[in-house]
Amino acid sequence: MTLSVLIAESRLKPPRSRRSLEKELTDLCSLWVRKKAGGRCEYHERLWRAYAERRVLPSAAYIGCDPVIQGCHKITRSNKRLKFDERNLFAGCSGSNCFFGRNPRGKEIWGTVWRELWPEDVAYLERVKGQIAHYNRGDLALMIYDFKRKLSQSAMSKEGT
Ligand SMILES: [Zn+2]
Repeated sequence: MTLSVLIAESRLKPPRSRRSLEKELTDLCSLWVRKKAGGRCEYHERLWRAYAERRVLPSAAYIGCDPVIQGCHKITRSNKRLKFDERNLFAGCSGSNCFFGRNPRGKEIWGTVWRELWPEDVAYLERVKGQIAHYNRGDLALMIYDFKRKLSQSAMSKEGT
């Protein structure tokens, strides 16, 4: 579907609520990062790599991996600017997501842990995290379109192989 078709179609339908667009975008972000990771837990992959390279992390970070993979955020999803930013997302197991999202000790060390595991993203995320983000419905629809395009392209490239 091209962008012009998408725009033409959207004119025929009643406008969607911001809430419904945000919900779809949240689901697509999660789907896309999990697909991109090929079902692997990127948290534990990076954790074991750091361990092999003798990089020291807080001992509480060495929790067990869980088979359920979820879309996770480096900087909390309450940051509106970074909630749908691919560089702020990764595929992580529910065990790590739950520990760093809810456990007081996990929450305390998460800032140190993600910066150690994703050093290539630190400068970018620090730079943009304070930017004001007022995504209107058009912005959200465009991001939805973009994630759908990436998902369908990755499905096509898999069929081709
Ligand atoms: Zn894991």
